[in-house]
Amino acid sequence: MEELINRAAEALSRSQHTVALTGAGISIESGIPPFRGKGGLWEKIDPMTFAHIDAFKRDPALVWEVLVKEMKGMIDTARPNDAHISLARLEEMGILSAVITQNVDGLHQAAGSRDVIEFHGNFAWLRCMSCDGRCETREADVAQLPPRCSCGGIYRPDCVFFGEMIPPGALTRSQLAASQCDVMLVVGTSALVQPAAFMPIIAKEGGATVIEINPEPTPLTSSVSDFLIAGSAGPVLSSVLETIGANGSGGASGSTR
Ligand SMILES: [Zn+2]
Repeated sequence: MEELINRAAEALSRSQHTVALTGAGISIESGIPPFRGKGGLWEKIDPMTFAHIDAFKRDPALVWEVLVKEMKGMIDTARPNDAHISLARLEEMGILSAVITQNVDGLHQAAGSRDVIEFHGNFAWLRCMSCDGRCETREADVAQLPPRCSCGGIYRPDCVFFGEMIPPGALTRSQLAASQCDVMLVVGTSALVQPAAFMPIIAKEGGATVIEINPEPTPLTSSVSDFLIAGSAGPVLSSVLETIGANGSGGASGSTR
C-alpha cells in the first residue's frame, strides 16, 4: 500500500493536468449511501416510478414526498470528507484541473473544488420550472409539496432525472478534460455506467496514468488502470496528499498557497 501511495504522490507531483472522476464511493464516508446496490435507494423505491422525469411531471408532489423522505435530510446535513477535501486541496496546489462527478450531493463544491463537472446535476440546488430561478435545497420550504418558487412555479431538483439527457456541456467538457489530462484519479466508482465509463479510456488513450482508488478491484482494474490503491477514498487520498507535502512538491507550477 505504502509503495502505491508513493507512486501516486510521485505521479501527481509531476502532473500538470490531473482530472478526478468520482462516484458514489467517495461520499459513503459522508454518510450518503450509493443509489445502486445493496441497501441503496433503488432497492427501496423503483427509480422508474419515482426518479423518472415523466413521473415528476405527472405528480411532482408524490415524487417530492419521496425525495424529502429519502434524500433531502441526508444531503442537507452531509459534510465533505477527507477525500473531497484532498481533491479540493490538489486543485488549490495547481495539480488538479477538474473533478468529473456522477454524484448529485454537491460535496465537492462544499469542500472548495471550483471546477466540478456534474454528469447528473446537483440535488443541493433546486430550479424553478417556470422562471429558471435557483434556490438551495436546504433553504427550500417543504411544508407544502411540491416546493414553489416566489413566482408560483414548481421547484425541481437541479439534477438529472431518469429519462433526461446528461447536460451536453458537461459531456463535452469532461471529454476534453479527460483527453488532456496526464493523470486521472478514479475515486469511488467502478465507472460501469456511461458516460463515466468512457472517461478513463479516453484518458488512457491520451497517454495519461490512470490511478484507481476503490475498496475492491473493478472491471477497470485489469483493463485500464495503471494501478489500484485498494482502500477507502478518505484515508487513501489524505495519505497521498501527505506524501506530496512531505516530498516538498508544490505541483507542476511550483507555487502553493
Ligand atoms: Zn420561479
